[in-house]
Amino acid sequence: MNSFSIKSSTIRLGIYISSVIIATILVFQLVWLNSVYHSEQKQFKTSVVKAIRGLYEDLDIAMYNYTPLNDLIESPEPNLYIARITPPFVPDTLANYLRYELEDFDVFTDCYLGVYSKDDQKYIYNHVLLFGKDDPTKKWAAPTVHPSYDHISLYFPNRRQYILSQMNFWIISSAVLLVVLLLFGASLYYFYKQKFLNETQKDFIHNFTHEFKTPVSVIKLAADVLKNPSIAQKPEKLSTYAGIVEYQSEYLQKQIEKLLQFAYTESNELHLSREKVNLHELIRESIQNLNPLIVEKNVTLHLRLDAENPELTADKNYLVIVITNLVDNSIKYSRSPEITLTTKNTDHGIEFSVEDNGIGIEKHQLNKIFKKFFRARNGETYAAKGFGIGLSFVKRIVTAHNGKIRVSSAPGQGSVFTIELPNKL
Ligand code: ADP
Repeated sequence: MNSFSIKSSTIRLGIYISSVIIATILVFQLVWLNSVYHSEQKQFKTSVVKAIRGLYEDLDIAMYNYTPLNDLIESPEPNLYIARITPPFVPDTLANYLRYELEDFDVFTDCYLGVYSKDDQKYIYNHVLLFGKDDPTKKWAAPTVHPSYDHISLYFPNRRQYILSQMNFWIISSAVLLVVLLLFGASLYYFYKQKFLNETQKDFIHNFTHEFKTPVSVIKLAADVLKNPSIAQKPEKLSTYAGIVEYQSEYLQKQIEKLLQFAYTESNELHLSREKVNLHELIRESIQNLNPLIVEKNVTLHLRLDAENPELTADKNYLVIVITNLVDNSIKYSRSPEITLTTKNTDHGIEFSVEDNGIGIEKHQLNKIFKKFFRARNGETYAAKGFGIGLSFVKRIVTAHNGKIRVSSAPGQGSVFTIELPNKL
C-alpha cells in the first residue's frame, strides 16, 4: 500500500493519537525538567555547605566543641546561608578564603558576604564576591537572623538564574524537542488537509461526470429516435422526444450555470450591490423559482414569517441564491418534504431558518458541510445528486453580509439551517 492510498480519516486518527503522544511527551519533559531543577538546587546547597565547612577548616573559626559542623550552618531561605563563627579572624582573609572554597566547589555565582558581631550587635563587615556581571558597588544589608551569636551570612542573589544557566543544555534540548514535535504535528495536519482536499476534489469530479453523463446519454438516445424518418408520421412521439431533449438541456444548462457562477465567485471577490430589500419578498420570490420542484416533490411548505421588520441592506440576487440553496437542499434531502421557513427579528437584525424533516446529517460531518466539494455520504452512496458547492457558496455570501450561518441536525429526524443577518451592512 503506498502512502497516498491512506484515507484522510486514517490520517485524522493518526493526528489524534500523535497529539496524545506529543502531549504525554511534553508532560514527561516538564516533570523531568522540574526534577532536574530540584536536583540542581540540592547540588547547589551541598556545594555551598561544603564550601563553608572548608572555610571552617581553613580558618579554624568553628570552635563549638562536639557540635557537628553541619549543625552550625543553616539556610533560612534558599538564597541565604548563616554560619556560626568564633572570632578572631581578619575579615578580608575570610573573604579570600571563601572565594577560594566556593570556586573549589564549583559555585560560580555572586555572593554577598556579611560578618555579624554579637558584641557590636550589627554587621561589622560587608563584601561582595563577584563571579558574574553584577554591580561591584552594590550595597547590601544582610538580614539579622541570630543577634545572639557571631555569624557570617552568605547571600546569593542570582542563585535561581545560576541554577537555570547550569540547566541550559537540558532546557535547549527540550525546546528543540518541542519545536520538532510541533513541526511534526503541523506537517501531519497539513498532510491531512491536502488529503481531505484531494478526496473531496476527486468526489467532485466523480459527481460532476455523473451529473452530466446521464442527461447527455438521454439526449443522445432521443436524438437517435428523432433522426428516424418515420417519426415525422408520429407527431405525439415527436413531441415527447423533443420535450425530453428540452428538459434535459434545461437541466444541463442549470448545472452549467451553477458551476460557472461558483467558478467565477471562487476566483473573484464577492462584490455586493447593496440595496434595501425586504426579506419576506425575497423568500416568496425564491419559493416561486422553486415552484416546479415543490409541486414535483409534493412539498408541504409552512411559512412563519414573523419578523416585524423584514427590511435589510443586502445584495438581493445573492440573498435569493442563499434562500434558494437552503430550500432546495431541504427538498433534496427529504423523502416526503415538510419544510418550515421562519423569520424573526433579533437585537441586531433578522434571523431566517429553514427546517426540514429530512435525512439529517451525522454529527461528525456537521462542521464539514460548509467546505467546498464536501458531500455527506451514507456508507458508499450519496443521498441525492449534487456537487457539494452550494453550502460553501451560501456561507461565503452570508459572511460577506457580516452574517452567520449555523446548522443543527439529527440523522433521520431532519435539519435546521439558520442564518443571522444584520439590518445594516
Ligand atoms: P450538494 O447538495 O450539491 O451536495 P451542498 O454544499 O449544498 O452540496 O451541501 C453539502 C452537503 O451537506 C450535502 O451533500 C449533504 O450531505 C448535506 N446537506 C445539505 N443540506 C442538507 C439538508 N437539508 N439535509 C441533509 N443534508 C444536507
